[in-house]
Amino acid sequence: QDSQPGKEYLMDPLPIFSNPHYKPSNKLQGKVALVTGGDSGIGRAVCCSFAKEGATIAFTYVKGVEDIDAENTLKIINDSKTSDAGDPIAIPTDVRYDENCKKVVDQVVAKYGRIDVLVNNAAVQYETYSLDDITEQRLERLFKTNIFSQFFLTKYAVKHMKEGSNIINTTSAVGYTGSSKLLDYASTKGAILAFTKGLATYLVDKGIRVNGVAPGPVWTPLEAASLNDEDLAAYGSQVPMDRAAQPVEIASSYVFLASQDASYFTGQVLHPDGTIL
Ligand code: NAD
Repeated sequence: QDSQPGKEYLMDPLPIFSNPHYKPSNKLQGKVALVTGGDSGIGRAVCCSFAKEGATIAFTYVKGVEDIDAENTLKIINDSKTSDAGDPIAIPTDVRYDENCKKVVDQVVAKYGRIDVLVNNAAVQYETYSLDDITEQRLERLFKTNIFSQFFLTKYAVKHMKEGSNIINTTSAVGYTGSSKLLDYASTKGAILAFTKGLATYLVDKGIRVNGVAPGPVWTPLEAASLNDEDLAAYGSQVPMDRAAQPVEIASSYVFLASQDASYFTGQVLHPDGTIL
């Protein structure tokens, strides 16, 4: 069993585990990918894996809200990218707002001319101790970040997506199961499941595939920021595999879905979750 890094690791946005079994093979050569929340955790692992597969990367980040380091992520992407890929760009923005999402898409299209893969990944999470925790302000923050952003970015990105391109939405195992400890967060993830299924049908005639990824527990700063010490110490113990995943173990699902290997996959959700579901 892989050892679990502690809270200290989780607060450090820099390390990214390498997966010795992963062999890139230019599956995304010539593709332009826009990834939200690309400076941290799963999003960063997705950016680096996509870059290794030949994609040109644009990612969004929100400076100062989470513990982030876009410059370092850019460096990791640059070190990962293939020689014919374009230079990566990091776009600071708050994806809760429609007009910001429009500007992000405009910026990517102005630089690269199109979007081939949209990864709607940015999210926040808060632990629920009591129903009294659920305030209007907190619900607004959760739903706007986690699901409004996916609608807005999709709305603008599809105008520039050609037949053969695709969208991947990050949901979560708790989107299926619900969670008493993540009551409102899990509800946003359930909404993403419905959005993903409906959008897949909506875009089928345009030849745009839409899929989701529903991870179980993953070691990322999201957990360190939202869980108390006791829950963090037990993190991953509820998984039959008895450990949380590392971000690169999740990123491989995105590589598959984004590539032509998944040409007959739309409206599907992959569950890299150590058999939680
Ligand atoms: P993370 O905290 O490392 O990354 C979240 C990202 O979202 C950050 O890059 C952050 O800057 C961005 N973000 C947050 N609020 C934003 C805003 N208003 N505007 C723009 N960007 C914003 O977390 P992570 O664990 O890598 O999470 C990535 C995705 O995976 C999320 O959708 C999360 O719900 C999902 N997920 C995570 C786990 C897990 O165990 N870590 C499990 C299932 C699903």
